[in-house]
Order: sequence, then C-alpha cells, then structure tokens
Amino acid sequence: MILLNPGPVNLSHRVRKAFLGPDLCHRESEFFDLQDEIKKQLLAAYKLNPEKWAAVLLSGSGTAAVEAMISSLVPTQGKLLIIENGIYGERITKIAKIHKIKHITLSHSWGEEINFDQLEQTLKKDPKITHVAVIHHETTTGRLNSLETIGRICQQIGVQLLVDGVSSFGAELISFDHWGISGLAATANKCLHGAPGAAFVIVRRDSFPETPLKRSFYLDLASYCQEQDQRGTPFTPAVQSFYVLHEALQEFTDLGGWHARRSHYRQLGNLVEQEFKQLGIKPLLSRKDSSCVLHSYHLPETLAYQSLHDQLKKRGFIIYAGQGKLNTKIFRVATMGAITIQDMQQFIMAVKKIKFI
Ligand SMILES: *Cc1c(COP(=O)(O)O)cnc(C)c1O
Repeated sequence: MILLNPGPVNLSHRVRKAFLGPDLCHRESEFFDLQDEIKKQLLAAYKLNPEKWAAVLLSGSGTAAVEAMISSLVPTQGKLLIIENGIYGERITKIAKIHKIKHITLSHSWGEEINFDQLEQTLKKDPKITHVAVIHHETTTGRLNSLETIGRICQQIGVQLLVDGVSSFGAELISFDHWGISGLAATANKCLHGAPGAAFVIVRRDSFPETPLKRSFYLDLASYCQEQDQRGTPFTPAVQSFYVLHEALQEFTDLGGWHARRSHYRQLGNLVEQEFKQLGIKPLLSRKDSSCVLHSYHLPETLAYQSLHDQLKKRGFIIYAGQGKLNTKIFRVATMGAITIQDMQQFIMAVKKIKFI
C-alpha cells in the first residue's frame, strides 16, 4: 500500500529493519548511546549548535511534542498569541485552554494567508504578550506559513516564537537562529520517514522559564531536557521507535538532508499537479503558498470523496480527506515517505482509471 496521507509514512526497507534491533533496557548505557546519537542527528539536520540548542526526545505522537512545548515554555506570567489558519493552529488554542495559559488568537479562515500587519499591530498593542505560536506547514490545507516574516516581527517586538513544525521538519528550510525560533515541535513519522512513537522538541536552551512550571507531570519538557542531558530518561521510551528514528536519520543524511528531500517531494508533487491539471482537478492553493510536502485539490463535482478514496485504495493508494468543513470540498495528496517517482506514476494511472473523467 502506498500512503499518500500526511503520516504515518511508508518506511524504506533499510529503516523498517531497524525495528528488529536487540531488546534493550532503557536504563542501560546502550540506550543512552542511542538517545545521545539521535539528539545529535536531529540538531545536525539543521546545523544547530548543541550549546545553544537541545533536541528533547519524547514518546508520543506529534501532538505530544506540541503540547509539551506550549505547556512548558510559556511562563505563568506569560501570554500567548496563537495564529490560526487551520485545524492545527486551532488545536494549540485548545491546548492553551486546558493548561489555563493566558492567550489570545489571531484567527483566519482555513488556508488563508496570515495577516502580518494585524499580527504586528496586535503585538504592539498588547505588551503582555510574551510568545507567539504558529504552524509552519498547515497540513489542513498545505499552506506554508512564512516563518521568516513572523520571525522578523516577533524579533522586532521582542516576543518568543514557538512553532509546530510537525509536517515541515526535515523537508523545508527552517532558519532557527535567523528567524528567532525558541522552540519547534516535530515527530519521527512525517518528513523524517521514521515510525510513530517518537516525537521531539528542538528548544533554545535559554528559552525555558526561570521558575519550573509543572503544568503537566508527563509532558514537562524541562525535566526531559535535564535528564537527557545527563544520559537519563524520566519514563520508559518507545525504544523500537527510537531505533527506527536513528536509522531514518542516518538514511536522511545519506540521501542529502532536507534540501534533497525538498527537491524529491517537489518532483513528486509537480508530477501530480501537472497530471491532475490535464484531468481538470485544480489545486486549492497556488504553488508559491504551498509546502513541498502536501497539496490539497478540489474534489471533482461528480465524485464523492469516499468513492475516490475507496477506488484508489483498491488499487493500492491511500489519499487523505479534507478535515472538518473541508471534508466534502477537497482531498489531499502528501508526498512524504519512502515513495518514488514510479509510485507516483502508478498513482496517476490509478486516478485515470476512475470513471468521473
Ligand atoms: C500531523 C500533525 C500534527 C500531529 O498529529 P499527531 O496525530 O499527533 O501526530 C500536528 N501538527 C501538524 C501541522 C501536523 O501535520
């Protein structure tokens, strides 16, 4: 089965084999060697200095990393501005509410470009705001939000920037230092081509609040960071998913890092877009607003999503529905995972066999 959903992804043979690593106690030095190695590989993926940055490993899905980041980095006296233009931005607002973090939202409709003037005005008007949270690649629609612009505004005004990079880390340009990022949450099973179970936050070491927060017992990023710095771990990690992430990161480096991954994704995405154009299937967003990772397409009027999905599934391809109110309007095709241009050509052939055209 070829997975064209935005994670979990198809694993390469090489990466899948890593599941069969030896049984391992997570309190033995062999585990801490593995943990140290993964932390190093994650920082190296974006050439980050380990004295300034830490890669903090967690066991859970991407949302665990986002929740750990938000609940551990906004201090009690802080206030968070959440930029929403899709379901994942709205999810951060839900997280802030549950943890009783003071917050306001800058809301847009799904897929809409962020109103940067309004962002700047809002930050200037409310000096209580200490942090901004935003989704880099809004997987709801495929829009790539401009972290460069947001980072510049945040730095001018002096607020910290927290990023959900779950579906961009490993495939898009992320200038951590230049854009003034304080924390970025991501996961193993999207653009890094690992398995679900391992997630992480890349955090600037000086961005932890001075007084420990303890909003959450399990997702307290500061204690993970401290213990991992000293070759420890607070709880039982998803050991096999860590094996797989380690191999996936090795493969990622061997294949040329995020630059190469972005080119590969673009090649696959362009093929789909061009072929779809011939069939009259139009993209939701223009290329310049889109990530390299996923594209949304308008559903042909004569075809219900479920029928399209089921017919493609029978031929070996999983596409992804629109979320919430977009669910009858669009469908999504992601290019992440160990898939080739030949796989995509097969996918196009499968689409062409469907009767709506
Ligand atoms: C996939 C994704 C998440 C996390 O989803 P999980 O199901 O928890 O892994 C968060 N944010 C974005 C932008 C995503 O694409």
